[in-house]
Amino acid sequence: MKELSGMFPEELAGEMASISEPSYRAKQVFSWLQKGVSFDQMTNLPAALREKLKSSYTDQPVRILEKHESALDDTVKVLYSLPDGNCIEGVIMHYHYGYTLCISTQVGCAMGCLFCASTLEGCVRNLTAAEMLGQIHCANELLRPKDARIGHVVLMGSGEPMLNLPEVLRFLRLASHEQGLNISLRHISLSTCGVVPKVYELADEHLPVTLSLSLHAPNDRIRRQIMPIADKYTISDTLKACRYYLEQTGRRIIIEYALIDGINASPENAEELSRLLRGMQCHVNLIPLNHVPERHLFGVSERQVQSFLDILEKNHISATRRREMGDDIQGACGQLRKHHLEEKP
Ligand code: SAH
Repeated sequence: MKELSGMFPEELAGEMASISEPSYRAKQVFSWLQKGVSFDQMTNLPAALREKLKSSYTDQPVRILEKHESALDDTVKVLYSLPDGNCIEGVIMHYHYGYTLCISTQVGCAMGCLFCASTLEGCVRNLTAAEMLGQIHCANELLRPKDARIGHVVLMGSGEPMLNLPEVLRFLRLASHEQGLNISLRHISLSTCGVVPKVYELADEHLPVTLSLSLHAPNDRIRRQIMPIADKYTISDTLKACRYYLEQTGRRIIIEYALIDGINASPENAEELSRLLRGMQCHVNLIPLNHVPERHLFGVSERQVQSFLDILEKNHISATRRREMGDDIQGACGQLRKHHLEEKP
């Protein structure tokens, strides 16, 4: 069955024609679908049309399977189910400027980063744009009692968005559609481990989306130890692609750097990172490593994070330490799904 919630109004008009419905229905159906409602709740449509839609199409492909609220902060970790029985996860984070949703772009991930739980079982499949939008609809549903909505989105859950670029682009255009969720593209960030040709491709779309690069190392030798993508593209080529992205979109790059004890967190590493990024319009996000028991990697102490940060600042590299959120609810990428899969009989 076709997924209607991943279609633009123009495409929906084509579908309406194919079931002998007037084209103005497309606009109504689009606006309902982008509110996250099911066919049954589309109250201004005739019952006969709703039945017709139900027999040929799916409305909302994503359902909430579990939610875990943090006792430490306002973070909510969500496990969702998909029509084919797969599950994915996401996190709702509460910042001073509102609610941010971290969404997944694939079931699992093929990139094999050593520190990441999402990739332990490989990549199962790409998500559709409808399934990415559905995660926002579910989160909005959870926020309804608080009279709040998702205002920012980060594509930082499971999966490598650049390896699912056509559906990610469709998602970006639908999520920012004026008659839909109308989330500003400036409020959306896309995180990549650095699939260089795709960075150029996205840049050429000229969308004002923030690009985050998961760098995690100050040189290729260290990066190759923890990220297989580093065997394919050098840091130099990756940063060149990022500069191109900046030129095309005017958006500064966010550099993600998870501090891993004994690997990339020494004062020398901080100096080397500073030299690497000197003169580049970017901001470094220092991430305390979320411990993944399956991987024998450990984060660093608060003091080490601070001294790494101090070195970057001394070298005039804009940097902050990312707040740890939902540490008590398996906040790290892929952990919740993994536990769910293990518990299934
Ligand atoms: N594939 C994309 C997006 C998903 S990962 C990417 O690589 O950027 C989202 C972010 O979480 C990345 O910066 C990733 O490196 C980071 N991450 C993954 N596992 C982590 C862990 N255990 N601790 C801290 N950050 C982690």
